[in-house]
Amino acid sequence: MSVLELKNVNKDYKLAGKEKFRALHNINLSFEKGELVSIMGESGSGKSTLMNLIGGLDSQYDGIINIDGKELKNFKEKQLDDYRKKKIGFVFQSFNLIPHLSVLDNVTIGLTLSNVKESVKVQKATELLDKLGLKSQIKKKPTQLSGGQKQRVAIARALINDPDIILADEPTGALDSSTTVQILDILKEIADDGKLVIMVTHSEKVASISSRIVEIADGKIIRDEKNENYQKNDTKNKLINDVHALPARKEKEGHLSTWSAFKLSLHNMWASKVKNILMAVGVSISLVSMILMLSFGSGLTGYISNTAANYTNPNMVTISKADKKNQSFSEDDIDALQQDITQYLKDNGNDFEVNENTMSPGLNIVTFSLDPTSKDNTVEYTPEGGETKYANVVDTYTTPPYYSKKNMLAGEIPVYNAEEAENEDYKGQVMLSKAACDLLEVETPEEAVGKEVHLNASFAGISFEKDVIISGIVDVSFFGDMMVMYVDYGFLNKCVKEAIHNKNLTLPPEQQVPETDLVPNLLYIEADSESTADLIKQYIAQHKDTLTGSVEEQMASMFTEMLSTFSIALAIISGISLFVALIMILVVLYMSVAERTKEIGVLKSIGARGKDIRLIFSSESFLIGLLSGIISIVLSLVVGGIFILVLKSLLGFAPLIMKIEYFGLALLVSIVISVMAGLYPSSKAAKLDPVESLRRE
Ligand code: ADP
Ligand code: MG
Repeated sequence: MSVLELKNVNKDYKLAGKEKFRALHNINLSFEKGELVSIMGESGSGKSTLMNLIGGLDSQYDGIINIDGKELKNFKEKQLDDYRKKKIGFVFQSFNLIPHLSVLDNVTIGLTLSNVKESVKVQKATELLDKLGLKSQIKKKPTQLSGGQKQRVAIARALINDPDIILADEPTGALDSSTTVQILDILKEIADDGKLVIMVTHSEKVASISSRIVEIADGKIIRDEKNENYQKNDTKNKLINDVHALPARKEKEGHLSTWSAFKLSLHNMWASKVKNILMAVGVSISLVSMILMLSFGSGLTGYISNTAANYTNPNMVTISKADKKNQSFSEDDIDALQQDITQYLKDNGNDFEVNENTMSPGLNIVTFSLDPTSKDNTVEYTPEGGETKYANVVDTYTTPPYYSKKNMLAGEIPVYNAEEAENEDYKGQVMLSKAACDLLEVETPEEAVGKEVHLNASFAGISFEKDVIISGIVDVSFFGDMMVMYVDYGFLNKCVKEAIHNKNLTLPPEQQVPETDLVPNLLYIEADSESTADLIKQYIAQHKDTLTGSVEEQMASMFTEMLSTFSIALAIISGISLFVALIMILVVLYMSVAERTKEIGVLKSIGARGKDIRLIFSSESFLIGLLSGIISIVLSLVVGGIFILVLKSLLGFAPLIMKIEYFGLALLVSIVISVMAGLYPSSKAAKLDPVESLRRE
């Protein structure tokens, strides 16, 4: 039985439209093992077309091609892959070695695709290369070899799987005459070893050494004759059999392993390392900005809530109305709130009671007196023997108890005792912010404490003057160094009531209650513990439609809200830049597929399945993702470190918290976008038609 038989084979190429071009007409050929066949014919006569059909690279034909009596057309895809892998060895005119692999790796690749053990692969390939006189060349790259050497490597690659048929398309076309002779000798030896060698050649001289000459013209066979003078040497299977006497290959062979695919991709990435590193750096820039943005986000949020917590008395809860138009708390409001909160605490297993003893009223007074010459709303201070100085206070708050002792730069938070205040010589107390204190031109905050100052104030159109004592200076720098004065609500109430009485005035209706007390727009609860305070804050949060917390808390939450809006904007920006990175990887991988079309064709001709090619390219995109991820982690550590150092020295603190999760996220995102970017190029590579890829020059 002939090893290979073609019966009435026709091959049509589809052209544009419905046109067809018949490249092979009614081919009938039959080949035996041990034959060295020369296929001759002019360029374009159909020689390569014939070789591709025999090699199983092209299954679109009419007629029958039998391999060992089995029809090629009936082969399932898997059988066809196996056929190309084990039955056929291809040798090309332009060698088609894979440039980024060493000589050894170029030969072992055929076994790598079958997942053969590393040691077996190396042993077989080394021995084969040795027999072909290339032992000293195995570490070289193909570009470092001469033409004849390259072709010998290609022959070794074709032989490594011990195929029955060697197809050589113009194997000597690119070689000079002396190397041509060497290669022909090798091919003859292979045929004499008992394999079928079919080679395409233009040269009569080359053809003359073969055992049979088949000539094609315009897709038809015009000559098929045996060479009567052909001398078959008894080679005793010189080239091949020793090699295959080596450790037996597993009966059931595998496919390209993921690990080998990674190694192949690494080789390729290393071959174009500059391109790959530049790309990875490009991708990592967006990842670095992502990591830094997240770190700043959590750093700032942490900083703000920390600082707010630091400034405020942790046991103190401030309540104001959410409705900005009506901020006043009526007595009914206050009663209801006291009962409600007490009940809420009870429901939560806390027996703290909110009543007139634990809840006190307050007022947010905002009077502007921006004219420094105006005496309104100033603190007037005359040092001994010196000139009078004015602190032009912008805002006055009745929030002293809200502040924590920690933030006193000097002195104490003012206290007010209604009974003491009945005394004739009673002097009220005020607390100033650092900025207001600075206007008094004292050397240190301590110097201001205990000094008597003259207060020119106005509230709701009622102005009054009062000599008061500075009880302390508070640090409010968290909100910027505002010029603020703090008075106690009770004291302010007393001053306003006195002014009304002395000047026979009446308060505007919205400020008036029967006893002409002020109407509070703030309520303070001094809880017995931080946990009680937290529960009350929880109550406020649950009633956020009607109630809000302190100005400080509102500001902190406003900051946090701003920050999260900002973060969303930044997330969108980094999303866009990651998308750009994705496109960049896609383009680079796509170009890489285009550059490596020939290589893909070669891999397919030696039995790589579409899946294997996809695996190689996917692992490459995975590795690019991994590399970008690692680079971005290193870069963010460096850049983040610099930020922290610079900010610490400039501001004294660095609102930057680099969490390990952010690095993990960056690595994940990097791998995901790279793998996503690789999907299209990989499937494009997997689908490449081997015949067309090989035709590319
Ligand atoms: P040879 O190898 O003998 O030089 P080929 O087998 O490459 O010739 O080509 C045989 C004929 O088929 C040529 O006329 C060529 O133009 C045509 N041909 C080859 N490939 C294609 C294709 N993919 N589509 C259309 N025509 C093709
Ligand atoms: Mg050709």
